[in-house]
Amino acid sequence: MSDRLRITDAHVHIQPWDQLKPAVRERMAKGREDFATLERMMGDPDEVLARMDAAGVARIGVINYVSPTLMGFTEEVNPWVAELARAAPERLIPFGGVDVRGPRPGERVDRLQDLGVRAIKLHPPHQEFAANAYRHGLPGLAEVYDRAQELGLPVMVHTGTSIFPGARNVYADPLPLDDVGVDFPELDLILAHLGRPLWPDTSFFLLRRHARFWGDVSGIPPRGLARYFPRLADVADKLLWGTDWPGPMVPGMKENLDDFRALGLPADVERKLLQDNADRLFGPAPEI
Ligand SMILES: [Zn+2]
Repeated sequence: MSDRLRITDAHVHIQPWDQLKPAVRERMAKGREDFATLERMMGDPDEVLARMDAAGVARIGVINYVSPTLMGFTEEVNPWVAELARAAPERLIPFGGVDVRGPRPGERVDRLQDLGVRAIKLHPPHQEFAANAYRHGLPGLAEVYDRAQELGLPVMVHTGTSIFPGARNVYADPLPLDDVGVDFPELDLILAHLGRPLWPDTSFFLLRRHARFWGDVSGIPPRGLARYFPRLADVADKLLWGTDWPGPMVPGMKENLDDFRALGLPADVERKLLQDNADRLFGPAPEI
């Protein structure tokens, strides 16, 4: 029997880049020689799987969300990501999104599940609302949390700053998620990026306060992880490995993994992040 971990990278952006607004596309392409290659990969599950194999990654969260005005992503991302994931359902976990300002957002969560989408991503700085805005005039957001909780779909929420043109970083602070934890206690909620770079303490507090909160370490350069989040081991049961690749400044799935493993964390902590926690949340990843 192999003692190789079945690694889940919970945060990879395989998205329909042809939907990107021109300014965002420019930012995405900046300083990146492989932009055209990556763009071709986006619609090609075989190529995605080949990259995962090369990185030794068993499974990824395929992160998509809706941000029509800022990024260009419409609800068309949902059938797109569901279709991509059908190529290898064990290895590709499709994350989709809802336009919370559109009609009947709660019902659309049900439609997402019908499509085969397995988790929802919300991006407050790119969708221009606070994560608790259902308490302040955006009732559709409560419908989304409510249906996701009922259906057992995890909700990942971007926390921390964003440098894309037009991003609203006033919504980047994770603290409003405290309301979500209070109001939807059975919802599995993933704090993406642990509030980097400004809010590690808030993120740590929220993970400890709310039983169903998880955090992903994506978007934090792994070499700086121990410095950024010094009490990582205290919440090791709640953290998911993730890279945010191919987002700006993320070298690669494999490069980040190598850097993470070079930190020399205790073996059980490493195993929880890379394998066990994701297995508890999404079911066991396959052997590759
Ligand atoms: Zn992301």
